[in-house]
Amino acid sequence: MERLQKVIAQAGIASRRKAEELIKDGRVKVNGKVVTELGVKVTSSDKIEVNEIQIEKEEPVYFLLYKPRGVISSVSDDKGRKVVTDFFSNYQERIFPVGRLDYDTSGLLLLTNDGEFANLLTHPSNEVEKLYVAKVKGIPLRENLRKLEKGIRLEDGKTAPAKVKMLSGDKKKQTAIVEISIHEGRNRQVRRMFEAIGHEVVKLKRERYGFLTLGGLKAGEARELTPHEVKQLR
Ligand code: URA
Repeated sequence: MERLQKVIAQAGIASRRKAEELIKDGRVKVNGKVVTELGVKVTSSDKIEVNEIQIEKEEPVYFLLYKPRGVISSVSDDKGRKVVTDFFSNYQERIFPVGRLDYDTSGLLLLTNDGEFANLLTHPSNEVEKLYVAKVKGIPLRENLRKLEKGIRLEDGKTAPAKVKMLSGDKKKQTAIVEISIHEGRNRQVRRMFEAIGHEVVKLKRERYGFLTLGGLKAGEARELTPHEVKQLR
């Protein structure tokens, strides 16, 4: 379910603001009836007409990107920095990222033009498991990693249980590589979880999103999801 003005805007007919005006002016019909309220929600099966012409819904598309570090998980940036949709400039569809990875985080990011799909995957009740590999300063003690496994108090509440595995530690360089799987998607969550046990994350990569992995992709490369993968994620 999406707001009518958003659907009109996504079909490329008008900006969101202009779409609201079209609705208020009585120029929009849903299933043959004029709608002048702004709160109305529609689904993909509703027939929407603007000025008596039925709008064409964009075909849904789904991509898996290996996001490099130093890219913003957004569709535009007011400071002119590179954004994830820059990797899809050959495509007509107005795609956007499903959730986000920090500017300095690399790894698996999904992008789509299907708002319902994105909402479903990012809804707190339905969050898929995400696996990260973190390089941290210092070598975490087993008992501190246990705290992350059990859930740790952050300023926005206790985290849900996580799976944590120490992959390696370099005593000389005083760094360690730790794998961590979480279901939630709070802002800078993995970085904050490690900070809470006294270890700064110096490198972070998302290697898995549910059953999806980066496979043979290199940083900056993307592929379309197969229809079967999309079904499995829903
Ligand atoms: N956790 C973080 O701290 N950063 C990310 O980009 C993703 C998860």
